[in-house]
Amino acid sequence: MFKVHAIPSHRLPELLRVMPKAELHIHIEGSLEPELIFALAQRNGVPLPYADVAALRSAYAFTNLQSFLDLYYAGASVLLHEQDFYDMAWAYFEKSQGRSCGAGGAVF
Ligand SMILES: [Zn+2]
Repeated sequence: MFKVHAIPSHRLPELLRVMPKAELHIHIEGSLEPELIFALAQRNGVPLPYADVAALRSAYAFTNLQSFLDLYYAGASVLLHEQDFYDMAWAYFEKSQGRSCGAGGAVF
């Protein structure tokens, strides 16, 4: 018979950080970071409704579905060419590797 010991709450953040994870389902365009969104917007000549990277990053603290969708569609609007999708996927894989995260499936 196993006896389960409670994990002290102060150890949880570190335990969760190092714990292996699997991302079973991700809409990969939602993984775009503000820096890459601005880089792709500049490369493709796409205007963004945010003044700069900092303004876009602050919009990530969305407050309702519409503010989330505004951000999501602004990010997706810069994805125009095959290279854009490659860059987005590569950034996601690099980020995932740093989190010991296995990807189960990515969708667009
Ligand atoms: Zn889905």
